[in-house]
Amino acid sequence: MRALRRFTVRAQLPEQLAPLQKLATNLRWSWHPPTQDLFARLDHDAWERAGRDPVRLLGEISTTRLAELAADAETVVTVRELADELDAYLTEPRWYQLAVEDGQDLPAAVGYFSMEFGVSEVLPNYSGGLGVLAGDHLKAASDLGVPLIGVGLLYRSGYFRQSLSLDGWQLEHYPVLDPQGLPLQLLTDESGEPVLVEVGMPEGRTLSVRIWQAAVGRVPLLLLDSEIEANDPDLRGVTDRLYGGDQDHRIKQELLIGVGGVRAVRAFCATTGHPAPAIFHTNEGHAGYLGLERIRELLDTEGLGFDEAVAAVRAGTVFTTHTPVPAGIDRFPIDLVRRHFSESVLPGVALDRILSLGAEEDPDMFNMAHMGLRLAQRANGVSKLHGIVSRGMFSTIWSGFDVDEVPIGSVTNGVHGHTWEAREVTDLLGEPGPTGEAGRTDDISDATLWGLRATLRARLVEEVRRRVRAAWLERGASAPELGWTDHVFDPEVLTVGFARRVPTYKRLTLMLRDPDRLRDLLLDPHRPVQLIVAGKSHPADDGGKALIQQIVRFADDPAVRHRIVFLPDYDMSMARYLYWGCDVWLNNPLRPLEACGTSGMKSALNGGLNLSIRDGWWDELYDGANGWAIPTADGIEDPVRRDDLEANALYELLGTQVGPAFYDRTEGVPQRWVELVRHTLSTLRPQVQASRMVREYVEDWYAPAALAAREVTADSFAGAKALAGYRARLNAAWPRVQIAGVDASGLPDTPVVGAPMTVRAAVALAGLAPEDVVVEAVVGRVDEADELDSTMTAVMKHVGNVDGLDRFEAVVPLPHAGLTGYTVRVLPAHPLLASSAELGKVVLAG
Ligand SMILES: *Cc1c(COP(=O)(O)O)cnc(C)c1O
Repeated sequence: MRALRRFTVRAQLPEQLAPLQKLATNLRWSWHPPTQDLFARLDHDAWERAGRDPVRLLGEISTTRLAELAADAETVVTVRELADELDAYLTEPRWYQLAVEDGQDLPAAVGYFSMEFGVSEVLPNYSGGLGVLAGDHLKAASDLGVPLIGVGLLYRSGYFRQSLSLDGWQLEHYPVLDPQGLPLQLLTDESGEPVLVEVGMPEGRTLSVRIWQAAVGRVPLLLLDSEIEANDPDLRGVTDRLYGGDQDHRIKQELLIGVGGVRAVRAFCATTGHPAPAIFHTNEGHAGYLGLERIRELLDTEGLGFDEAVAAVRAGTVFTTHTPVPAGIDRFPIDLVRRHFSESVLPGVALDRILSLGAEEDPDMFNMAHMGLRLAQRANGVSKLHGIVSRGMFSTIWSGFDVDEVPIGSVTNGVHGHTWEAREVTDLLGEPGPTGEAGRTDDISDATLWGLRATLRARLVEEVRRRVRAAWLERGASAPELGWTDHVFDPEVLTVGFARRVPTYKRLTLMLRDPDRLRDLLLDPHRPVQLIVAGKSHPADDGGKALIQQIVRFADDPAVRHRIVFLPDYDMSMARYLYWGCDVWLNNPLRPLEACGTSGMKSALNGGLNLSIRDGWWDELYDGANGWAIPTADGIEDPVRRDDLEANALYELLGTQVGPAFYDRTEGVPQRWVELVRHTLSTLRPQVQASRMVREYVEDWYAPAALAAREVTADSFAGAKALAGYRARLNAAWPRVQIAGVDASGLPDTPVVGAPMTVRAAVALAGLAPEDVVVEAVVGRVDEADELDSTMTAVMKHVGNVDGLDRFEAVVPLPHAGLTGYTVRVLPAHPLLASSAELGKVVLAG
């Protein structure tokens, strides 16, 4: 019989074991091996049956077994010790608290908004890299004691599970999640009633959501859930699935996470006494409407004007962009936005002001990234290269500035070491400390390091066999046909992994460019390679599914199926084995379309060597001795030729560099390989840590933003009012600001480098005061078209006003030999601006 509905009943634990509840529901267990060991020991079979999910485990263990455990002194002591350890972890001062004690001025709390969170496979609320990164951000913040509040949506169907049809086509199914069976707790008020948050919807309707809290160590994660009876049936589905619906569904989700998310944070702080966030960090543009809700709050409660509220909100907002392609940016038809932001949604906030925040080149579209940049005083990309790409991509908002002056910085992503590193690695090397210093690798013998890699590879091979068999059973094969799956893969063979989502730019099938060459590599009698491929295609992307099918068909061939596998249903639980066990992590994106990429970092944590196009993080951290860079054919316009060239380079590297390094042995140990592994572990392991990333966010982004936010809000928002007033004066005067004359003097006929040149300018300030602007001399090389390059700038001093023109002057030492040019420009200047490029305003001479 099939059940009509299902729900989860929580176990009643004997008193001696009561702390298990907290150990199971705080997700800290997912990165704490001793707690995992405890769960496994309670009931090994039940632990496996429950998919290593402690909340399910507690429901699986029989009452008799629980009674037995409660009577076992050793178990009871371990439970108590681990519960005490967890309490200490949750309350003791950590890096952040020590920094505050040390006098650092850090925000009381930070709201961190993301459309997806991949904290653990037991809470499958993510689709890929963006979500896993957000999960790692929360976990590292917890370890460091950073007072983050995570905000997202709770999807009833999480992301889809992938299986394959017999002919290799991706099939999707969406298991329905019951929040009662997840490590979540409903936010309730003092009378025990669920706290609800409301968001206005078109046609005067209201969407109500309840708030589930996950405990990610010290960090609360608030997940909004629309599946409640109070809602109209169609609105109940707003949080049904991640990236599943049309534009209308999508804007409702984004309205909910942005506007509803801020309200949920307010309700959470009011109910729990948690300090209110001074900073709001939006992980990608999806949650950008949070800025509008904060503007509404200020209009409502502080009586500020719109521009004053914008000034206050911007100071405390950090926006991280993850998309290096314009097509990847979230945009909505203007009419859809108009319909969703009627008066009832954000009372008092003028619609035309909202629309102008999302304005872009196409007047019919509302651009979430542009709004993100306009509502955040600080913005960043996720690797150095992605910072450069982002400055170029958004340079139209800062026209008149050189691309490298566009105020978008970068913080290179990191990965949570305790989540992604095999415990054998941590045991051998020690913790990479909170400040990121390397564990010791120099006193570990070659044989030990090689043994470590062999252990992890062997474990992966077991897992591959298990999964290949299960995948074939699911595709419809019968058990007697599957004897061969016991022998797929070989624990001694060089193992290469390639697992990621399947958008075109990641080029899943590049390796199949020349199938015969790939076959030769796999079947090489002396130096064979075995290859694991995994990844999901977006359900609506048939092109991506066709790529998967190509790989599957190639791998189905009995001649190669023992050396290449496609493993369906790539997720965190599979990924872990791949990162632990693969010798080589392959990545061949179309440069520069990989914003950062984090899977290769997880491999590196475990001594895996990256074989990758120099894109994303690998562009900055490849050093010639920690893996291989696949040469990229960047300049080649013809995509077919480019793929040919890059695939060829990949085969070459595998055959002539990677293979020999792995297989050339001295007394059974590949010296060259171990050298590469050692170097990777000692240099990359500390650099790729999410703790390094989170510290960077705290020190270089959250702390200055908190200071800026305090400056604009102090004294009843005097700063915000002053800044808004300044911007109004600037806007009025700017079209008439002009550089009336420029000259330079003081140079001999043939000047040498370093010679002082005096630059003078006469400027019409159109009613602005000299201190409202900064006038700069810009000196650099010039090309034939008189374009300046390699420039240096010098601030010019105000020296008086003659004939109604303000005079500015600077002495500039000539910076370069060769053809040199200079110009003068006027920029806004105000103590509450983060940079003079911030407002996108510049007047150039001439
Ligand atoms: C790390 C991770 C990703 C992201 O990997 P990329 O290299 O950015 O493609 C995706 N999915 C899972 C399950 C991961 O663990």
